[in-house]
Amino acid sequence: MFTKSMTVGEITAAPGQVARGFLSTDVGRGATVRMPVVVINGKADGPVFGVTAGVHGAEYPGIEAAIRLSRMLKPAEVRGAVIIVPLVSVPAFQRRAIYVNPLDGINFNRVCPGNPTGTITEITAHLLFKNVIAQADYYIDLHGGDMIEALVPFTLYYKSGYQKVDDASKALAEAYGIPIILGTTTLRGGTYGAAAAMGKPAILTEAGGQGILDEPSTQTHIDGVLNALRRFGCLPGTPVVAAPPTHYTKFVWVAAEQDCVYYPRVVVGQQVREGDLIADFTDLFGEKIGELRSPATGPVLFLVTSPAINKNDPLMAIGS
Ligand SMILES: [Zn+2]
Repeated sequence: MFTKSMTVGEITAAPGQVARGFLSTDVGRGATVRMPVVVINGKADGPVFGVTAGVHGAEYPGIEAAIRLSRMLKPAEVRGAVIIVPLVSVPAFQRRAIYVNPLDGINFNRVCPGNPTGTITEITAHLLFKNVIAQADYYIDLHGGDMIEALVPFTLYYKSGYQKVDDASKALAEAYGIPIILGTTTLRGGTYGAAAAMGKPAILTEAGGQGILDEPSTQTHIDGVLNALRRFGCLPGTPVVAAPPTHYTKFVWVAAEQDCVYYPRVVVGQQVREGDLIADFTDLFGEKIGELRSPATGPVLFLVTSPAINKNDPLMAIGS
């Protein structure tokens, strides 16, 4: 029997119960950070899973999957507990803002595990890590391409150097069922990397894009979380995975060197070779001002689809 109550911020779920509420903190000047949280506390012993979505507020399939999971999971079948935050960046969702929190212009996925005395986004990250990730044995962060991004679904995990954590993160990624997996060694303040650095096996999963709430991507996330819960004994059964995954070790990002009009010459999912022409850039008079050659050989996993590009904006990423 699992007889432990789970408390997350101001809400508590007794064993065998579901609790819904908000995780909030005062950020000064009369402002409050507030995110929805659902705790599904099982009756039997088992692991604690943290599941978040909406770190980027316009990545809708992940948010929708988290909302549905929060209503679908029943304490009677859960062993351990599942803590779900279906929308981390509430202001970004409300204002349909890409990449960043519109209140401070900061990307949540670059400042984890946060800072209690930092900007609003850093305080939000700290609030999440202190109350949710710190209590979790495993962590899954649901994403999809942002409003101006197309992508092939993939799963990221961080190779922290702690073998036990890394093996479990990899197993989590494989159980999720998305057939492209990237194990990376760069820490960029991302959710999954910060969690792994704390000793928590973690993945970040990408399905969806371009501001569309589509059912296949939503289902990919729902199936993925259920599979991950099964894999580590939080739900009965075994993961149902269609195909063995392909593992990539490098995620080669390309960013814009100048403000421009951007014309990608590839589509998402396309295989490119090092040196291939992958984009052209013009000025606002249509005059060509540059072109981009692929720095790597592999599939285009992620592609910005907006022509409006500023210096240093990401353009695409290639798996290698
Ligand atoms: Zn994202």
